[in-house]
Amino acid sequence: MSKFFPIRLLERRQIAPSVLHLAFVRDDGEALDYTPGQFIQIHFPLADGSSARRSYSCATRHDHRIASGEAVEFVASIVPGGAATALFQGMAIGDHLQASGPLGLFTLKPDDASRRYLLIATGTGVASYRSMLPQLDALIRERGVEVVLVHGARMPSELLFADEFLAMVDRHPGKFRYLPCLSREALDDDAAAFARAEAAHGYVQNRLAELAPSAGNDIAYMCGNPNMVDAVVAALKEHGLPMKDIRREKYISLK
Ligand SMILES: Cc1cc2nc3c(=O)[nH]c(=O)nc-3n(C[C@H](O)[C@H](O)[C@H](O)COP(=O)(O)OP(=O)(O)OC[C@H]3O[C@@H](n4cnc5c(N)ncnc54)[C@H](O)[C@@H]3O)c2cc1C
Repeated sequence: MSKFFPIRLLERRQIAPSVLHLAFVRDDGEALDYTPGQFIQIHFPLADGSSARRSYSCATRHDHRIASGEAVEFVASIVPGGAATALFQGMAIGDHLQASGPLGLFTLKPDDASRRYLLIATGTGVASYRSMLPQLDALIRERGVEVVLVHGARMPSELLFADEFLAMVDRHPGKFRYLPCLSREALDDDAAAFARAEAAHGYVQNRLAELAPSAGNDIAYMCGNPNMVDAVVAALKEHGLPMKDIRREKYISLK
């Protein structure tokens, strides 16, 4: 059986100035089940005839088997001159792509016994954590874990899925914290919707000291910009976190 399968575009929306939200359905009658945090790859030809592949974290909130016919969502950065960007922008609803996967080990582990999860992302990297929301909801209710989601973005309009993270803050006061970090534009005074978020100006790594991560207490996840991932890993090691409790997904751009 081929490792490739066709996916069909169901919906495309621009959800931020530089982000597309895409929904696809697997179109060969098989389920596209995945563990939250995993990604799929798409495969497409370039203008010179060579083939390209790009990876995208599954963003569908996932607490059940994704059956045949059910949508798989992801969010894609709009990169000027980007090959996949042009492909997504040019697709019509109903068009097909070749895909493979799901792949990756950036998932919550059933044996984790930490008291707190630190979930750190930049940009579209937050998609993985959106997909984990049902699992996190259950872990907070059943095991009393704390979750701190730190999201780095340039401006408020890039705080993807903020309403869903704020709903988790409301649902689990003190147990689910949402810390947006804005590198260019601060939240303005009208941003009442963000009142329950602990927003700050700057980069995600600047928030680590106040969170005081420690070995045995925390398991940390990082997803997105490779420079951010490296900086946060270095900082977490300085706080004494062992590598087994540091999990990362770098959004590396393939040539
Ligand atoms: C495991 C994994 C999971 C990933 N998941 C996601 C995801 O969920 N969402 C997502 O958006 N991306 C994700 N990526 C990155 C994604 O695969 C593509 O690299 C990205 O979408 C750019 O593709 P493109 O073809 O449009 O641009 P490319 O043709 O790859 O890039 C064109 C030019 O822009 C530069 N560039 C590439 N990306 C960026 C960027 N973000 N900002 C500025 N310049 C850039 C490149 O270096 C290159 O010079 C993931 C990568 C990996 C490895």
